[in-house]
Amino acid sequence: MHELSLAVQLVQAAEEVARAADAKRVTAVVLRVGALSGVAEDALRFAFDVATADTLLAGANLDIRSVPVTVHCRRCGVAELPSLQLFRCPRCDTPTADVRSGRELELESIEVE
Ligand SMILES: [Zn+2]
Repeated sequence: MHELSLAVQLVQAAEEVARAADAKRVTAVVLRVGALSGVAEDALRFAFDVATADTLLAGANLDIRSVPVTVHCRRCGVAELPSLQLFRCPRCDTPTADVRSGRELELESIEVE
């Protein structure tokens, strides 16, 4: 399950930030997860619970914000894809594989106390 190794990395990153801020614990974590990141939200939530046990993040609230997939079209600029199957410009139907967002898996913010 690759979500577990991702969760462990995220926990380590959040702990580093928390320690640098001299915090006793992390109460909330906000993640940005792209629709193309290949991460299943349910699996990530489960992995987060496992990975946060006995860390500064134990019991922290996990807020997952999904990032839509956008592509760049030479004629129309950046546009949001309505479907993951169609890598075509949603405005003029030109094929494009120039993905500009949707692969994210990153910490957006954490709350500490
Ligand atoms: Zn276009």
